[in-house]
Amino acid sequence: MIIDCHGHYTTAPADLQKYRDGQIAGLKDPAYVPQKANLKISDDQIRESLEGAQLKFQRERGTDLTIFSPRASAMAHHIGNETTSQNWTQACNDLIKRVVDLYPDNFVGVCQLPQSPGVPPANSAAELERCVKELGFIGCNLNPDPSGGNWTAPPLTDKHWYPLYEKMVELDVPAMVHVSSSCNPNFHATGAHYINADTTAFMQFITGDLFKDFPTIKFIIPHGGGAVPYHWGRYRGLAQDMKRPLLPDMMKNNVFFDTCVYHQPGIDLLFKVVPRDNILFGSEMVGAVRGLDPETGNYYDDTKRYIEALQLSDAERKKIYEGNARRAYPRLGAILDRKK
Ligand SMILES: [Zn+2]
Repeated sequence: MIIDCHGHYTTAPADLQKYRDGQIAGLKDPAYVPQKANLKISDDQIRESLEGAQLKFQRERGTDLTIFSPRASAMAHHIGNETTSQNWTQACNDLIKRVVDLYPDNFVGVCQLPQSPGVPPANSAAELERCVKELGFIGCNLNPDPSGGNWTAPPLTDKHWYPLYEKMVELDVPAMVHVSSSCNPNFHATGAHYINADTTAFMQFITGDLFKDFPTIKFIIPHGGGAVPYHWGRYRGLAQDMKRPLLPDMMKNNVFFDTCVYHQPGIDLLFKVVPRDNILFGSEMVGAVRGLDPETGNYYDDTKRYIEALQLSDAERKKIYEGNARRAYPRLGAILDRKK
């Protein structure tokens, strides 16, 4: 089975964005009372939004199941206040639940969190619990920078985040460290802000004692771990100088990278330096990079081709496609076994 650990509902029906636009417009009007979404989206509209996109690519590329979450760049936790974010998040998560209900063989849900700058992460715990217990989701996307590019929150290893981590551990769900759009013009969202955040999170994990305090907590650092594989020697050296654990020991059962690296040399390097127990197959389709690579004639985000081109044993390939995902998402196993 081929599990894609990284997909977003980037093609959601227009009604969802219409609700969001109303929310954003309302922020300018002092008389506006925030409303929960009451979306008029039919099952057929949901089918239509997926059939020509995520489902088509699953079939064409030969992947089976996508771990699916709301569109990351639209989380935009910096917009409005806590209520804005709560209502928006619930609308997005409820729509993912509908996708999973319509296509239970193709998608498993992961939730957005209702984060907001300056608001304690503990306040996201209730929505996480709702999504796991009531909607059957298996993880969350955690934004390390709810300010959208200004990095006003403490590092991920700070006790600031611990109440949310306690809930993650209690529910046995991982977080994908995933920023959203950038309101800092220095950082292009998907080209710089995303990759910065991946790299930043890894360095925080090296320096902090998070995994001593939470030995079973799990994080997925997407986009191939940002700049980390390319600078693996730098991180090894820094960890050594700081008398921190070896990188594979630090990552072991706690930190995973995906394969959302959109060219063969990048994937080759990822597999050369990062332990293969810590790599999850992912494509982030339909996502940031949607074009065809003129050098190969294939889609940049058709990451399965790069994996297939590697010299992997069958056992290793199975780990990348399925086994490691089962480890990173402990609730996934029960869902897959029910499908059999
Ligand atoms: Zn993503």
